[in-house]
Amino acid sequence: MPKPIPVPDELSKPFWDAVNQRQLVVQSCTACNRRQYPPQPTCAKCGSKDHLTWLETSGRGRIQGYVVERDTRMEPLVPDQPFNIAVIELQEDPQILFLSHLPGVPLGQVPVGARVEVRFDQVAPGQLIHEWQVENSTGGYRPRKK
Ligand SMILES: [Zn+2]
Repeated sequence: MPKPIPVPDELSKPFWDAVNQRQLVVQSCTACNRRQYPPQPTCAKCGSKDHLTWLETSGRGRIQGYVVERDTRMEPLVPDQPFNIAVIELQEDPQILFLSHLPGVPLGQVPVGARVEVRFDQVAPGQLIHEWQVENSTGGYRPRKK
């Protein structure tokens, strides 16, 4: 599956700079103690734009669910359909979601509830992107606590 090469803008540059340092960061609002991703110009809860900082995460999460994409409108991905799209919830803040193709996981066999960890893949000279992989497989499946 081809990986998109990020084009950082002013808003997302700190995120991509961190990725290039092999760190996964999210925005944190120090006014209302809330984290958010993807990056936004203001806090989606309190509207503050002067209290947003960047916080390094554990890089760990859990698979919340997934879909199998069979008819994408994203042209570069068409040759690879169908493919998995998993929703990853961040370990320390399950409100924060990432999407992943979970490379190596067979189509339609995404282990919902399994723990995942971030890894970093090079997509261009000097440019890494974040990707998720299932933690070392040994019975990682645990149902979510309700
Ligand atoms: Zn806030």
